[in-house]
Amino acid sequence: QEGVYLEIQTTLYDQNDHLIFVRDVTRLHLLEQMRKDFVANASHELKTPLTVIKGYLETLDMFKDSLPKSMQKGVVNMTNQSNRMEQLIEDLLLLSRLESNDKRDVDQWHDLSELIHGIVDSIQVIGDQHSIQVIISSESKLYGSYQELYSAFSNLVVNAIKYSPEGGNITIKWENNLQEGIFSVTDNGLGIEARYIPRLTERFFRVDKGRGSSTGGTGLGLAIVKHVLLHHDAKLLITSQPGQGSTFSCLFAASRIQQPLLNKSE
Ligand code: ADP
Repeated sequence: QEGVYLEIQTTLYDQNDHLIFVRDVTRLHLLEQMRKDFVANASHELKTPLTVIKGYLETLDMFKDSLPKSMQKGVVNMTNQSNRMEQLIEDLLLLSRLESNDKRDVDQWHDLSELIHGIVDSIQVIGDQHSIQVIISSESKLYGSYQELYSAFSNLVVNAIKYSPEGGNITIKWENNLQEGIFSVTDNGLGIEARYIPRLTERFFRVDKGRGSSTGGTGLGLAIVKHVLLHHDAKLLITSQPGQGSTFSCLFAASRIQQPLLNKSE
């Protein structure tokens, strides 16, 4: 029958026999699809009213000086919150696209050094209180979607900045060997307790709910990272020590990496 989803599981019953379990998960699958469609449609619909609100806020901002002090503060608050809402909608839409495998750009080879330095340049404003070191141990190319890789890597860098104190050290590294290529971001910030690590890539999961909203994140960053890595046959590895810092590493298979010839003269 068309459109039926089955989950099949086998276990060893005794030395010679296997038990096979077949579960009809069609309903679950349909519900999951409805959830994804709802999130995608709702996020899309929220964009239009938000654009109108932001337009009026920009006009108000131009005449801010003629407003009473309390109203001026209100305009700043509303602008911050509407920017936050815009980021949330963008992240929800990106996550929906990633979940439905709706690719916007084709996979290509990308120069890692360019990609990483592009990200560092663009986050300069929020990262100017941190010392950011970039180590690229081999000039390699990575095969994948530029937009998705950019989004995943920049989420990890922005998190390192958000969850470490001013003056903190952040190391962004690319290294590869014959088996894999590793993009990693290390900070010496707050760190994460081991029991929370498996939950970090869940949508809207935050170790500290209060901390999340004050740092301005959407709670979707690591869920996006997880889906982007899934698309690139890569894995996310998180190591952390509370109070000492964290390292988020993306492990890419060798088939996705192109290295310059080792005997290249210059
Ligand atoms: P958020 O928008 O809240 O940053 P993320 O999905 O990017 O959402 O991260 C989920 C949670 O994981 C964060 O709220 C934070 O508690 C924790 N986290 C992520 N990166 C780090 C980090 N580098 N150091 C400490 N905690 C982190």
